[in-house]
Amino acid sequence: MKTIRTVAELRAALNGPRRAGRSIGLVPTMGALHEGHLSLIRRARASCDVVVVTLFVNPTQFDDSRDLGAYPRDEHADAALAAAAGAELLFAPAPEEVYPAGFATTVTVAGISAPLEGEQRGIEHFAGVGTVVCKLLNMAQPDVAFFGQKDAQQVAVIRRLVRDLDIPVAIEVGETIREPDGLALSSRNVRLSGDERRRALALRRALDAARAAVSAGEREAAAVAAAGRAAMSDYDVEPEYLALIAPDTFAPVVKLNGEPVLVAVAARVGDVRLIDNDILDGGS
Ligand code: AMP
Repeated sequence: MKTIRTVAELRAALNGPRRAGRSIGLVPTMGALHEGHLSLIRRARASCDVVVVTLFVNPTQFDDSRDLGAYPRDEHADAALAAAAGAELLFAPAPEEVYPAGFATTVTVAGISAPLEGEQRGIEHFAGVGTVVCKLLNMAQPDVAFFGQKDAQQVAVIRRLVRDLDIPVAIEVGETIREPDGLALSSRNVRLSGDERRRALALRRALDAARAAVSAGEREAAAVAAAGRAAMSDYDVEPEYLALIAPDTFAPVVKLNGEPVLVAVAARVGDVRLIDNDILDGGS
């Protein structure tokens, strides 16, 4: 695997394969790679001829400078993991390569970006995500780009921006990879202390409780959400949000009517902000 730093090198490296008709898969990451990332890289490996992993801790999507400062970084380990999972190219640009002096353009996706993560982290969060993903897609021009369902709102934002801006790429979404006890893998999990690690299970338990409520026949979204909140309080964790929404539009769901419903939850455990989600079939 080759590590490259500039857009020019990336384009040069992909020119030959593209002309030879080889398909290109892109897996954008912020590094601190774990099984969640690696599952996406392996999936790209299985369906594309050339796999590019990007490693860029995008400053513009962080609303909290402490979170940005504390974000785990280990390019050496990431390179070894990405190579072992089947990547040919690791694109790890410096911030100045991505945002040169005078950078002035922002891609925002109205509507979907506003609730939940947008409300908690500020509207700039998804503007940062949308802009950097748009740039990475233009830099590598992949045939397929891979994202994780763990960041469900990010997936919805990216699908919409690709459609609205006619970007010629297929978006594939990989399932959320979890620890054996159900905690969703996240680069931030390494910052959880022993007791926080136990309490972090509150998010998964809330999703389980919401699912159980629907299975038991509950159709009022508020009551389903209340069941989830109650499960979290057992772990002494207060959600920032726990919401039932339509998976594509992120519009709130009031009553379940058989359509798939996304249950999304976010909470701070100690200093660490965690998110998780689950799709319910909505009852019938
Ligand atoms: P990040 O490095 O956190 O920006 O994540 C890079 C990609 O990996 C995103 O598409 C995430 O949705 C995805 N990802 C992060 N955690 C997981 C997980 N536990 N399971 C599956 N995909 C994940």
